[in-house]
Amino acid sequence: MTEVLQNLGADLLAGNVKTVDLTHTLDPDFPVIVLPVEFGQCARFRVEEVSRYDERGPAWYWRNFTCGEHTGTHFDAPIHWISGKDLPDATVDTVPTSAFVRPVCVIDCSSEVAKDEDYILTVDFIQAWEKEHGDIPEGSWVFMRTDWSKKSGADYLNLREDGAHSPGPDADAVNYLIHERNIIGFGTETVGTDAGQAAHFEPPYPAHYHLHGNNRYGLQCLNNLDQLPPTGAILICPPLKIKHGSGSPLRVMALVNA
Ligand code: MN
Repeated sequence: MTEVLQNLGADLLAGNVKTVDLTHTLDPDFPVIVLPVEFGQCARFRVEEVSRYDERGPAWYWRNFTCGEHTGTHFDAPIHWISGKDLPDATVDTVPTSAFVRPVCVIDCSSEVAKDEDYILTVDFIQAWEKEHGDIPEGSWVFMRTDWSKKSGADYLNLREDGAHSPGPDADAVNYLIHERNIIGFGTETVGTDAGQAAHFEPPYPAHYHLHGNNRYGLQCLNNLDQLPPTGAILICPPLKIKHGSGSPLRVMALVNA
C-alpha cells in the first residue's frame, strides 16, 4: 500500500494531479449570515496591524485578526446545532481528522439556480445525478454546486423583506444523503448549508438540523466548485483546532486529475 502515496507524490510533482482552491479570501467585506435582530450576530473578519517594519517592530510585519467561527469559507461542526449538542467528538477540535480528507461528489444545480434563486435540491434530482455518475460512495462529502460563489455584495446574501433568497436542499434530500448514502458532510456555495428561506421548512433549517443531529459536517461559502469534476476529486478541509469550537474558517482545497 505504500505505493499509493508514492504514486500520488510522483503524480503531484509531475503535475498529473493539481490543486483547486475552494476558498474565498478572508476579507472584511465578505458577507456573513444575518440573523433576525433579536439574535446574536456572527462577526465579520477584521484585522489590526501590530507592526510593519516600523517603530512597533522594525524588522517584521504582523497583524491580529478577529472573526466569528462562521465567517467566510467555513466548517460547521455537529455541536453548532442543538440537534448535535450532546454527540461525541462534535467540536472542531475533536472531529476525527479522517473527515477532513475524503472523496467529494459535486451535484451541479447551477443551471436550475440560474432560473430560480430559491431552487431546492430534492431526492429526485440526486437520484438523477446518480443515474449518470453512479451512487454516491459511503463516507464521501457531497457539494451542491450552484455558482452562487460568483455573486458578491448584497446579491450574495440576497436579503429581502421576507428574508434571504438562496438555494439549498430540502429535508428529504438531506436525509437521503445521510441515511441512504451515509455521507460524512454536505457543502454549499451560499452562506449556509440551508436555503435562504429554510426557516420556514419543516423542520426549520433541515440541513443543519439533520446533518449535525447525525454527527455529520457542513461546509459553506465554498468557491470554484465549477472547477471540480462530478466525481473523483479528493477534498482537503481541516478546520482550525479551536477548543470547543462550533465551526471555523478554513482553507478548503481539492486534488483533481490534471
Ligand atoms: Mn456555519
